[in-house]
Amino acid sequence: MTEKKIKKPRGKARVLEGKCVACGERCASACPVDCITLNDAGELLAVDQDKCIGCIKCIKVCAVDALEMFYTPEELELLKLWEAQKGSATEELDPEEQALREKLAQYKGVWVFIEQTAGEVAKVSWELLGTGRELADTLKVELTAVIIGHAIDRLRAETYGYGADTAIVMDNAVYANYRTEPFTDALCHLIDKHKPEIILMGATGQGRDLAGSVATVVETGLTADCTGLAIDDHGNLAQTRPAFGGNIMATIMCDKYRPQMATVRPHVMKAAEYEKGRRGQVIRESFAPTEESVLVKVLEVIMNKSGADQVDVAAAEIIVSGGRGMMGKDNFAILQELADELGAVVGSSRSAVDAGWMPLGHQVGQTGKTVRPMIYIACGISGAIQHLVGMQDSDVVIAINRDPEAPIFEVATYGIVGDLFQVVPELTKYIRGLKKQNSSGSPQAAA
Ligand SMILES: Cc1cc2nc3c(=O)[nH]c(=O)nc-3n(C[C@H](O)[C@H](O)[C@H](O)COP(=O)(O)OP(=O)(O)OC[C@H]3O[C@@H](n4cnc5c(N)ncnc54)[C@H](O)[C@@H]3O)c2cc1C
Repeated sequence: MTEKKIKKPRGKARVLEGKCVACGERCASACPVDCITLNDAGELLAVDQDKCIGCIKCIKVCAVDALEMFYTPEELELLKLWEAQKGSATEELDPEEQALREKLAQYKGVWVFIEQTAGEVAKVSWELLGTGRELADTLKVELTAVIIGHAIDRLRAETYGYGADTAIVMDNAVYANYRTEPFTDALCHLIDKHKPEIILMGATGQGRDLAGSVATVVETGLTADCTGLAIDDHGNLAQTRPAFGGNIMATIMCDKYRPQMATVRPHVMKAAEYEKGRRGQVIRESFAPTEESVLVKVLEVIMNKSGADQVDVAAAEIIVSGGRGMMGKDNFAILQELADELGAVVGSSRSAVDAGWMPLGHQVGQTGKTVRPMIYIACGISGAIQHLVGMQDSDVVIAINRDPEAPIFEVATYGIVGDLFQVVPELTKYIRGLKKQNSSGSPQAAA
């Protein structure tokens, strides 16, 4: 004979006095049966016990535990029996929660969109495969690289080498150049068919465009410019990014919709070590709109010209950056001299860009480039949070500032308190001397 299943008693919510902080009627808004009374100041007064259905929604939304569940002595007895019986039995959920869990359970796997232009992969995609690998390992699911383009099959092997288990390849002439419409249709088709739980893309021009478009069509959340990604205790993606002008770091969750989508700027994450010969599976997808159905046409592709203003600060291994402390455009020449000796590029803070001393492409920080060089030399830069978020992951930070209290020293590996107009030329001279010494082999040659 099977044991009769005991139903969990629902109980009623009741107010715990002195705890409510009048947060803005969140409990009353969450209540489906309108049984919560608030006073004029928005503080909790009472829960109508005749109306309450014990759904615990008000308790779930209250951040200060101003409500609790109350059970009659009979219900308490039943609760004890129910808990004893529960044992290995599955948790009883309200139908809404059950439906949500069933919906989310259909989505599995971590995807990284492999951004490429004319078969050249954006480095950020390899960085995202590194992060994707960690997330997939935590979730114990597969990591998939999504490659959409034309004549791109050879990229598969690279994606495996950077950590992908599977590559989904959509190869068609219609995808030869990036266009929002066909790429959105393609990715939405794949999402609908394979149901990934996480999709990562580079926060590049292409990635930002595609991610926003896809998230809108599949009706899910998107967190842009993440600086940290992790899996929380419930298996959801915790997406951390600067908020409120970079003054706080916010962790954003998308726990009721799938896929969870995030973009990450280049150089924020670290690519995994490339494993030559690593193998994976391939899924070839033939879905493709006809060229005639795509309204936007690419007439010509004009690549970035190289030149003084086209320096790629984001890809540099060594950066010598200047801020407002440089006092003028011409003074950047001393940074260029040091950079030339080191094989570095010159970067800048936003103040220097706003003052017209440096072109925008050189700006490092929240609204500029995110950099991750081996050495970052900050000259006359105070270290505002919006600057730090763009360079704090540099391997070595050398700060030169005459103010010993400057926040830049908090992230510096080496700090030089002094006048940059003395320190920088001395450094340049010293490095020149070292180089001369190395080439001549004479120790006296060094300064
Ligand atoms: C939404 C938003 C986005 C932003 N995005 C960015 C961004 O992407 N990048 C960015 O950099 N900023 C950004 N900012 C601006 C940021 O808040 C700071 O204003 C800016 O970084 C300050 O630049 P700075 O350090 O060059 O200038 P300051 O803060 O004025 O610092 C100059 C420093 O130079 C030092 N100094 C002066 N003379 C000398 C000398 N002779 N020798 C040695 N040291 C000297 C001073 O002690 C001082 O510490 C943003 C701000 C906002 C609100």
